[in-house]
Amino acid sequence: MNANDTKRLAALDHAHVWHPFTPMKQWREQTPLIIERAENEYLIDTEGKRYIDGVSSLWCNVHGHRVPEIDDAVRQQLDKVAHTTLLGLASPPSIELAAMLADRAPGKLTKTFYSDAGATALEVAFKVAVGYWYHRQKPEKHRFIGLAGAYHGDTTGAMSIGYSELFHRPFLSMVFPTTWFPNPDPCRPPQAVGNLPPRPDNVWPSEHQPLADALTDYCLGQLDRMLREQAHETAAIVIEPVMQGAAGMVCQPPGFVKGVADLARKYEVLLIADEVATGFGRTGKMFAVEHDLDENFYGPDILCLAKGISAGYLPLAATMVTDEIDEAFTGELADRRTLYHGHTYTGNPLACAAAVASLKRFDDTNLIEHINQSAEIIADRLAPLRDPEACPHVLDIRQRGIMVGIELCEDRNSARPFDFAARRGYEFCAAVREKGVIIRPLGDVVILMPIPAMSHASLEHMLDTVVETFLAWRPAPASI
Ligand SMILES: *Cc1c(COP(=O)(O)O)cnc(C)c1O
Repeated sequence: MNANDTKRLAALDHAHVWHPFTPMKQWREQTPLIIERAENEYLIDTEGKRYIDGVSSLWCNVHGHRVPEIDDAVRQQLDKVAHTTLLGLASPPSIELAAMLADRAPGKLTKTFYSDAGATALEVAFKVAVGYWYHRQKPEKHRFIGLAGAYHGDTTGAMSIGYSELFHRPFLSMVFPTTWFPNPDPCRPPQAVGNLPPRPDNVWPSEHQPLADALTDYCLGQLDRMLREQAHETAAIVIEPVMQGAAGMVCQPPGFVKGVADLARKYEVLLIADEVATGFGRTGKMFAVEHDLDENFYGPDILCLAKGISAGYLPLAATMVTDEIDEAFTGELADRRTLYHGHTYTGNPLACAAAVASLKRFDDTNLIEHINQSAEIIADRLAPLRDPEACPHVLDIRQRGIMVGIELCEDRNSARPFDFAARRGYEFCAAVREKGVIIRPLGDVVILMPIPAMSHASLEHMLDTVVETFLAWRPAPASI
């Protein structure tokens, strides 16, 4: 594409496209980067410049871009049919995929309800949880307990159970009431966790064991207290297990998910695991809940999947449930147990074909093992950021598998945050982009979300670029 074409598209973008999660005034003051093509871990703009895709195209790409096996699977499906409905008809790719998911999912999750986005997978889960208790003659169990800082998507139910001050404040009039138990956020521990032994300079808050233990006790204690009062009206607890993504990569100490699951069982409420971000290998296991499974914890009652499910090719989501839940929705027609819910493109064959090919590739390339090696490389290469003299603006690094959040601050000793309007996270990521690596912050948390199949050479280059940028980064001090 020549420079004039790029200019024309940029002008049309500014005139007509409203970008998601984007301050549009500031967007229109800059020339947009227009990605035209991609190749493995590289995104290529209209002028032919190449960038490492350090956000997995918003956390969904798995095996790289234009993977021949997945491209072929989609093309072959295209030669048969692009879309047929699952309302009253079945299709080969949706059947194959549901069977493969049931094989791989933890515990007794055998049934898959398809939709098209993470948010819709969660909406299905919420309705299934409320419907389950309704059909079990307990219609009063219709409320939810969420985890503080949760993000489950941007539809109304998902906004109700998630909460982000920045994202949701204008829309509080639309949402239904939910209660939240505290999350084990090591950078903002509640006063109630008390005095802890001091933390050495080169240990991150999230790695400080006494803090992790105190936070786990405190958060699970609060959940226990809430359930004691509210279990009779609660349908389900909803969590992003192991790592809360949009909260800024807030990770949970080992055993935390099992602790939540134990309480869910004790008080007879369902557990919904939102693995839209953590699913498909990102934490070093196929599904994050697997980190905490044991003889008493088989898995969640409902599992929500999206993002990586189709390897980042096409919009697809799945809500998986146990046979026990399925039974609550089946019966004689006169019982009126049917779940009347669905979307036009539910179980789209092209998307399911991509997902089937992706799951095959997990096995063929031993991807989970590659991811675990990548996780070690990440921990190793980011070590220079531990030096407080060299990196005075790094407050914490939180990592699970290949999901990483680097929290920035104005002052590392007092943990004083940057002024929100200074957009320091954005400024830092812009400096990294200049060097050919695309990453995206969540506020002042810099997110690294490499493509799971990214070669170790590219991963190392991406990490070295980030570290080098940190070592040179001295943002102007706040004007007081
Ligand atoms: C991205 C995300 C969602 C929403 O998914 P969409 O496909 O954007 O609707 C839900 N939950 C989690 C944990 C996510 O990271």
